[in-house]
Parts: sequence; structure tokens; C-alpha cells
Amino acid sequence: MLTRLIYASETSAPHAPAAIQEILDTARRNNQRQHLTGMLAFDSRWFLQVLEGDRHVLSRLFGRIAADPRHRAIELLEVVPIDERCFGQWSMGFAAADLVHGSLFLRFGSKPRFDPRQLSAAAALGLLRALARGDEIARLGAVTGLRGMGHAVPVIVEVAAVDH
Ligand code: FAD
Repeated sequence: MLTRLIYASETSAPHAPAAIQEILDTARRNNQRQHLTGMLAFDSRWFLQVLEGDRHVLSRLFGRIAADPRHRAIELLEVVPIDERCFGQWSMGFAAADLVHGSLFLRFGSKPRFDPRQLSAAAALGLLRALARGDEIARLGAVTGLRGMGHAVPVIVEVAAVDH
């Protein structure tokens, strides 16, 4: 059964972009094989991830993700059956949330910063969809479309490419 899972977590250590790239490489490799799609947002402290796919496959993956020492304080925001994917073209899209203008966070939450634990599931989904569309980040010129294998087209915001 097609299912969507959203969770938030906190990084267990400061991550260099290379460590995030390693997570994305593994995710894209594994997810593509298992027809999982989704999006990951990270701002140097918080992760927010949505995953879509078969419920059994998602359950097994979430067990691995929850046991991964690279993050902690994992909070499930939702696990729901869905009729259609929202992130069908990404095996795992990525947005560097610290490059996103605060107005996007105010659209979905009460504060102009990335704090995924404060979001309802619907707001988290809305934010991830906006990030996948490139709202408020495309204007920085920082979105690089990288063609993945097969149907997967990951979106990477190059963390090092923009001056704060
Ligand atoms: P490998 O990548 O070969 O790793 C083998 C083992 O080493 C795993 O147990 C892994 O947890 C551990 N490991 C690898 N690198 C490190 C490291 N730098 N520090 C500590 N332990 C490490 N996986 C997916 O398949 N799909 C996803 O969408 C996905 N999203 C993720 C999101 C986040 C925020 C994090 C932190 C991890 C995510 N992962 C994802 C990775 C997941 O937790 C597992 O590591 C991965 O699924 C295992 O894949 P593998 O069997 O190919 O093992």
C-alpha cells in the first residue's frame, strides 16, 4: 500500500556537507531500487524528511533510519496511506534549509526559522513541497538540478555556493 512517512530529527554531531552527501548517496541508491521517493531538508541542526512508497518497505527503512547514530530525537510526524506521490521524481531531493528565506518558514509555522518539531504534518508536507519546487531558494540561484539514474532527479542546494 502506498504510504507517506514524515519525521523530524536532530543531528547528533555537526555535519560537513560531505557527510550529508554520503547520506544522500546512500538514500538515492537504496530508495531508487525500492521505488521510494522523498525529500530531505537540513539546516545544520534539524532534519526533516518525507518518504513515500510501499508500507512494508518504508517500515523496514524507518527501522534503519531510526537506529542511525548520525541523528537523534527522532519524532514521527505522520504515517498515512496516500493515493498519489508528491515527490515522485526524486529518489531523495535535498534542500539546505539554512539557505531558505525566513518568509517560507513563516508561511508554514509560527517562527521565521526552520524548526520541524513545531510543524504539523500538513505544514511539514507543505514546506517540503515548497522546497521541492524551489520556493524562496530558486531566487538565490543556488538550486542545481543533478540528473540521477533512471527516473530520479535529485535537487541539491549546494551548501557552499551561497554567501550568507
Ligand atoms: P551503508 O550505507 O553501506 O552503511 C552501513 C552501516 O553503516 C549502516 O548501519 C549505517 O547506518 C552505518 N553508517 C554508514 N555511514 C555512517 C556514518 N558516517 N556514521 C555512522 N554510521 C554510518 N537510507 C536510505 O536507504 N534511504 C533514505 O531515505 C535514508 N535517509 C536518511 C536520512 C537521514 C537523516 C539519515 C541520518 C540517514 C538516512 N539513511 C537513509 C541512511 C540509513 O540510516 C542507513 O544508514 C542506510 O539505509 C543503510 O544503507 P546500506 O545498507 O546501504 O548501508
